[in-house]
Amino acid sequence: MTHAVQHWKNYIAGEWHDAAESLNIHNPATGEVVATMACADFAQVDQAMQAARACVSSRALISQRPAQRAELMHRIAREIHAIVDEAAEVLVMENGKSLNDARAEFLEAARYFEYYGGMADKIEGKSIPLGDDYVDYTVYEPMGISVQIVPWNFPPSIAARSLAPALAAGNAVVIKSPEVSPLAMTYLATSCQRAGLPNGALSMLCGVGAEIGDALVRHPDTNQIVFTGSVPTGQSILRAAAERATPCVMELGGKSAAVVFEDADLEQLMSSVKWGIFFNAGQVCSAMSRMLVHRSIYEEVVDKVTCFAKTLRIGHGSDNPDITPVVSKLQHQNVLAMCEKASAQGARLMTGGQQPSNDQANTNGYFIQPTVFADVTPSMDIFGTEVFGPVLAITPFDNEQDAWQLANATDYGLVAGVFTKDLARSLKATQQLRAGQIFVNEWYAGGIETPFGGIGLSGFGREKGQEAIYSYVQTKNVAIRIT
Ligand code: NAD
Repeated sequence: MTHAVQHWKNYIAGEWHDAAESLNIHNPATGEVVATMACADFAQVDQAMQAARACVSSRALISQRPAQRAELMHRIAREIHAIVDEAAEVLVMENGKSLNDARAEFLEAARYFEYYGGMADKIEGKSIPLGDDYVDYTVYEPMGISVQIVPWNFPPSIAARSLAPALAAGNAVVIKSPEVSPLAMTYLATSCQRAGLPNGALSMLCGVGAEIGDALVRHPDTNQIVFTGSVPTGQSILRAAAERATPCVMELGGKSAAVVFEDADLEQLMSSVKWGIFFNAGQVCSAMSRMLVHRSIYEEVVDKVTCFAKTLRIGHGSDNPDITPVVSKLQHQNVLAMCEKASAQGARLMTGGQQPSNDQANTNGYFIQPTVFADVTPSMDIFGTEVFGPVLAITPFDNEQDAWQLANATDYGLVAGVFTKDLARSLKATQQLRAGQIFVNEWYAGGIETPFGGIGLSGFGREKGQEAIYSYVQTKNVAIRIT
């Protein structure tokens, strides 16, 4: 299906707004400009914030019985289900990912609204005994205005991950969408609008991060910042947030390792490699970007992974290939430069490391061959620096101590995994590996029900799971003297 170049607008408090400037949106599979997106200005930031403040002050979301808010959340989920086909095509066009994955992303977005809809009427405070002279209780109040800054790798699903619990808890939300892939996530705003979300409870603005994103972060009406993105941007947001002591949830990057012991089930491992590092062209914060392998099976695993990587089919997202393009020209250049550096620093390139040839994919597109480096050592950049592409770095280890030390030897701590049939060893790994979530014998095991977030440079706060709803409320204690 071909798409004419279409112009897309920002959603501000129930209406679609154009702007004086716009951003070109490219199809990563061809490099062509396929759409333009209105680039919000500072006045529109104020407009969105004022509408959000009016929504909070009116108590439109929290004066009703929470069960009604739950019903609203379920209506939003149903509206998302109704637009999946159309929205997924747009996501493929602007983001490059496969059509199956794009569809799954919208279904996941809907699931966030169902899941947190189920919690909207269960956010309960406590009664605290203080003796006969007092009644004391706590209430969980919404933060107020939650500013949410979204990256380009899974725009609809990451947006829904924060938007759903925030609305379920009664907050107003202003979302800053990513410059390179802002179109498909506007379908979330459409779904909210159709479901009858009060105007002002949601605005979605696209614009330059360092301008519009920064203005939202520094806005005096901002009560919370939820940021998902790179470490340098997260650090600059944290510095800005310090000015007003604005609370933050930070979901940053990772350089996560799978530890493969000599008794690992290698078929299970290969399936995890496929999803762990090649899904979404490796543009996943929790990707299996490193593999640490016991020396006794090291060459066997390196060969197996290399052969497997060579079988992966590269192509346009609408054909549902194994390897899709990376999102942008800049990302393409960065990933290829990281590969060159890894080779120059002595890593053994087993396969990939380059743009595919013309018979494999459109050479104007941002494709990168599935890439495997072996003999990676901690002194090489590829060991500790996030690539965010289909690039796996493999390192041998000799014993358990060695494995834990190598796995924990980066400043990140998002996820980690272990592959072994030995129950005691896998439990030991769960204690020794330093990360927010540990996978045993399956990369990405878990779901939207399981808390997700990092330690160290991977950030703080948790999204997903029941725990995440408490990121979107604050405790108020009420102490009443009754005598
Ligand atoms: P990025 O940091 O460049 O941009 C993320 C968002 O921040 C974009 O919307 C951008 O416009 C905005 N932004 C940029 N500068 C800003 C500023 N000064 N103030 C406010 N907003 C600003 O990240 P990216 O390149 O879009 O995404 C890739 C990175 O995100 C990777 O490092 C990846 O690991 C990380 N990521 C983390 C998670 C997670 O849950 N931990 C999920 C996805 C991506």
